[in-house]
Amino acid sequence: MNCLVCGNSHLKTVDTIVSEFVSDRIKKLPSPKTKLCFCEKCTFAFYDYRFTDEESQLLYADYRGTEYQSLRQKYEYWYSAKVNEALNNDKTALAEQQRVIQKVIKENIQHEIKVALDYGGNEGRTFVDEIGTEEKYVFDISGVPTVPGVKNISDPAELKNHTYDFIMCNMLFEHLPDPVRTLDELKEIGTDSTFYYIEVPSENPFVKENKFSISKNIRLLLNPLYNKWKLIRYYFKQRRMPFMPMKEHVNFFTIQSMKTFVENNGFKVVDIQENLENTILGEQTVLSVLFQKKQAN
Ligand SMILES: [Zn+2]
Repeated sequence: MNCLVCGNSHLKTVDTIVSEFVSDRIKKLPSPKTKLCFCEKCTFAFYDYRFTDEESQLLYADYRGTEYQSLRQKYEYWYSAKVNEALNNDKTALAEQQRVIQKVIKENIQHEIKVALDYGGNEGRTFVDEIGTEEKYVFDISGVPTVPGVKNISDPAELKNHTYDFIMCNMLFEHLPDPVRTLDELKEIGTDSTFYYIEVPSENPFVKENKFSISKNIRLLLNPLYNKWKLIRYYFKQRRMPFMPMKEHVNFFTIQSMKTFVENNGFKVVDIQENLENTILGEQTVLSVLFQKKQAN
């Protein structure tokens, strides 16, 4: 397997498995075995097993609904209905996400953003007034009704019917089996002057003291949303498991790998930054990249 971002064939790999929750939700996985791969050249990390479109549909159908929650709690004891509900109504995370988008725009884009698209943006709640002053669109195949002022596009063929000043895609690329394919799709629907914005968690399981280490998560015990005994039971269970079983995040980006990712696919980076965002379950570092199509000289 070559690095999905830079093509490097010398990868560091660790044997692991698809998590019990994900295997159970998808049911017919060919094998639970997979490898977590790390590219030392561009620092991108990913699992070598890639979900098919059908498997992704099974995993994300009625995402964070009742069935999803109870099945996940069966294996991940801390994932209670209370935690699920909090995640579904996390106003802090939304406000923080908007704050960071506004910051990146303010620092880099001087003109009015008249027509904007949120690719994969559910109901379109991420929009703030200055993004899409004339038209706001959300592309989402789930068919959820959009919030007032935002128009839904559910047919990919309709994406090209508009000329966008700004296309954003938040917290999606860490989940995608084929991130290059989606980036190509985004490229197809924008123009030479479109600004693209991608937000992903800044994650790297291969650096020491990464966000997945137990010491980094110890303060979760202080969060009243979690049942601490369930959390502790889960930690002990995790210690018997292989390193980092594959869950919903299948791609782990850093500043370097994100920069390589967009630049290798015909774009140039305008700005790339890391910011701390608060969420109801604790804080997380997010990676934001603003980029445009590379002009042919
Ligand atoms: Zn690489």
